Amino acid sequence: MSKSNRRSETPVEPECIFCKIVAGDLPSRRIYEDDHAIAFLDIAAWHRGHTLVVPKRHVTDMITGTPSLPEIASSIDAVARMLMHRLAADGMNIFSSARDIAGQEVFHMHVHVVPRYADEPGLDLLINRGVVPDGELESVYRQIQAGA
Ligand code: 5GP
Ligand code: ZN
Repeated sequence: MSKSNRRSETPVEPECIFCKIVAGDLPSRRIYEDDHAIAFLDIAAWHRGHTLVVPKRHVTDMITGTPSLPEIASSIDAVARMLMHRLAADGMNIFSSARDIAGQEVFHMHVHVVPRYADEPGLDLLINRGVVPDGELESVYRQIQAGA
């Protein structure tokens, strides 16, 4: 994405990977969809069931343009409760980074919904940058789908 597009608000951004996932032009393990948002498993999950909730329209971050966080608030709530229930999680972190200074890497607004489990507690263990095998993502995806 060019720098001029990093703070844009357009319905679709052709080079944006999350716009492509929303459109179905890139594959994802999609677990939720409504009028405003979709949710799919993060490809590099920090914890089992780590999910990204993204608005369907392209907006770069939660502090740019027409507010996107209120628009997808009910989607975030629904996804968090679904993951708690279907994965028997013990807790949950929800957060969103806005702009590169805050660590944002994909410039289509997204909210991380991260189920937490008693064996890896606390904020210090939230971000786990280990490699997640595709089979593990597939297994959690199936468990979530089975609860539908
Ligand atoms: P950020 O650092 O911008 O808050 O988070 C971006 C997240 O998007 C990261 O956790 C990263 O693993 C995830 N991600 C990046 N590319 C893809 C992708 O192509 N598919 C999926 N499912 N997740 C992605
Ligand atoms: Zn986008």
